[in-house]
This record gives sequence, structure tokens and C-alpha cells, in this order.
Amino acid sequence: MPLTLSPVRTVVCCPNCGSPDTEETSRFGATACKALRRCLACREPFEQVKEL
Ligand SMILES: [Zn+2]
Repeated sequence: MPLTLSPVRTVVCCPNCGSPDTEETSRFGATACKALRRCLACREPFEQVKEL
């Protein structure tokens, strides 16, 4: 089953294991330019720094 990715979303790879299989858990982290994500492969949460 092919993965369909929304064009407005970019693939964010996990900084821990490099897996692109991540999900956004919170749109805003500690600052507005960061989003909280979680890796579905290693289940480690991490912060995505949004480049504006
Ligand atoms: Zn990972």
C-alpha cells in the first residue's frame, strides 16, 4: 500500500534513527517555530524546528 503524502507536508525524518515515519503530536512546542513530533519507528519524541 503506497503512502500518500499531503503536498503541504514535508517528510520529517527522526533524528534518532532516521526513519521518515514520524507524526506530529503538537503543532507548537516550546516556541512557535518548533513542533513536537514522535517517531513511529523508535517511538522517541523529538522537536522539529520549522524553517520559515
Ligand atoms: Zn526514530
